[in-house]
Amino acid sequence: MRFSGKNVLVTGAGRGIGAEIAKTLAGYGLKVWINYRSSAKEADRLKEEIESEGNQAAVIGFDATSEKEFVEAVKTIVDADGELSYLVNNAGITKDKLAMRMSVEDFEEVIRANLVSAFIGCREALKAMGKKRFGSVVNISSIVAESGNAGQVNYSASKGGMISMTKSFALEGAPRNIRFNAVTPGFIETEMTQKLKEDIKQAYVEKIPLKRFGSPQEVAEAVAFLLSDGSSYITGETLRVNGGMYM
Ligand code: NAP
Repeated sequence: MRFSGKNVLVTGAGRGIGAEIAKTLAGYGLKVWINYRSSAKEADRLKEEIESEGNQAAVIGFDATSEKEFVEAVKTIVDADGELSYLVNNAGITKDKLAMRMSVEDFEEVIRANLVSAFIGCREALKAMGKKRFGSVVNISSIVAESGNAGQVNYSASKGGMISMTKSFALEGAPRNIRFNAVTPGFIETEMTQKLKEDIKQAYVEKIPLKRFGSPQEVAEAVAFLLSDGSSYITGETLRVNGGMYM
């Protein structure tokens, strides 16, 4: 894969899908800024692993829901490297409950963690990348943005918002040659899905045409494609990575 830019910020990259995205992009030659909120040790270990393979990484701790911290982080990156070429808004949480038992606080917390954080990232990317008239952003949404899911009205609303927000940012970014796309993973093997009970997991597998959960690497390759020059005419799109579970 070809990349005209030189660096990328991946939010929530200390573990899970974010860590795999960071490793994959570093392998393609980008300097990766690994963001963590609480997984500091994991982020440091990932940096060492990437460097041991001869690739470049830096660690940057901040809470992606904090406007002040996110803005400062982008400034730190631009000051250090002269630019921010790519951004992956990957940080996310779940707080599942049936709607009748879900408090407004539970709803708002997930919207803030998933959607508001991505908004701040996209806005700051637009400003930073606008100066170079080049950049590409990928927002990690979810299959449930399109399919809905019982117990996840907060999460599905946040992820649905990410898809429509991506399209609007794509329209604002296009005149400056900045692309915005979304990836909607289906069920992927990470800590987030390890929380599921075995019988529920099995029931989901039955509904997946490829008859298995996906791997973080399979999401990472889709993200890399959407950031790369190979997708230079693709913007405002949503790429489904779900084993055929939702088409
Ligand atoms: P995970 O294993 O639970 O990891 C979540 C990541 O998000 C962690 O690195 C965490 O960082 C970070 N994070 C959460 N809140 C943050 C904040 N305020 N600021 C900075 N980082 C924050 O989840 P995952 O499965 O890798 O999921 C990654 C993304 O893919 C999420 O957006 C998720 O919604 C989406 N997704 C996952 C699946 C799946 O099946 N796993 C399917 C569809 C979509 P710390 O550990 O440092 O706190």
